[in-house]
Amino acid sequence: MKILVTGGLGFIGSALVRNLIDSKNYEILNLDSCTYAAMPESLEGKENNERYQFKKIDVGDYNAVNKAIKEFKPNKIFHLAAESHVDRSIANPHGFIHTNILGTFNILQTLKIYKNKLPSDLILIHISTDEVFGSLDFTDMPFNESSSYEPNSPYSASKASSDLLVRAWNETYKINTVITNCSNNYGPWQNPEKLIPKIIYSALNNEVIPIYGNGLNIRDWLHVNDHVQALLLAGESKKSFERYTIGANQECSNIDLTKMICLYLDKKMPKEKPYFDQVEFVDDRLGHDLRYAIDSSYISKEIGFKPKYTLEKGIEETIDWYLENSEWLRSKI
Ligand code: NAD
Repeated sequence: MKILVTGGLGFIGSALVRNLIDSKNYEILNLDSCTYAAMPESLEGKENNERYQFKKIDVGDYNAVNKAIKEFKPNKIFHLAAESHVDRSIANPHGFIHTNILGTFNILQTLKIYKNKLPSDLILIHISTDEVFGSLDFTDMPFNESSSYEPNSPYSASKASSDLLVRAWNETYKINTVITNCSNNYGPWQNPEKLIPKIIYSALNNEVIPIYGNGLNIRDWLHVNDHVQALLLAGESKKSFERYTIGANQECSNIDLTKMICLYLDKKMPKEKPYFDQVEFVDDRLGHDLRYAIDSSYISKEIGFKPKYTLEKGIEETIDWYLENSEWLRSKI
């Protein structure tokens, strides 16, 4: 089984690649352009495995994508390469259009052109986000596979565009496809521009812990290892088109999450004042979505996805990992 992963040096992609290498059943090709978000060090000790190869390729480069897919002839493609940080998309959206939209188009167009020369079971698993559905109110029902697209940020609009391209290439050119829309991930090796490692870094370094607005925005937190399990299950789909919304049913406001992290640090590494005293509310993000929540009942019923991590256990393990890897965390600031 040959598996191509795009963005396999990123936070989620590297967790998937580590899992695939450990599984021993796969030949893996990782395509990544090595942006600031890439972490080759997350594959240390595994990158020399004979079943693994890496190519530095920009998915926005049609010829390079074309050549890599044509030569490798994958059975599955997990497409995770993306610009992924909402704040960066608000400040400078160009890269999001290039990678998230053009990059996805390049993969789809390659699959269309070489369809007859590639394995007949080839399936594209397109990893997207719940942010494409916009924002929920506190009392709304969670997103599910039938939710309508209402993206609010340049990031979510670029991901929504890529989802629509995938859907259209499936419908028109019969490219086997799964689209996954998952909630916020957390776990080891996440860039400290993202909320959880940012809180941990700021707390440990006696810096202000900045919280947007009033801190009441809600996210449905999914441990990255649970996400990888869901993706592997989703990749087994035998349907021509499938979509799964993936979450862990662990809704938590940003401020409650911050309290949870600070309380664990108070226990683990007590200091004179509680860590939570470092919290400061800062100007809200432009167009900040209020709440994301996912109804995962379809993926659970259809293919038996069941997250293993409770938020509390996942956060504690994650904090322990960042404490053990505090030098790495500092190096990414
Ligand atoms: P990340 O930012 O940590 O990693 C992205 C990876 O893609 C990096 O290794 C980067 O070098 C690579 N990349 C960027 N531009 C590229 C290009 N033009 N060509 C090739 N490689 C390129 O992202 P992540 O958090 O691991 O997210 C992976 C995917 O999951 C994304 O598609 C994202 O939209 C989606 N997603 C993430 C989350 C989350 O909470 N992190 C939640 C839902 C969905």
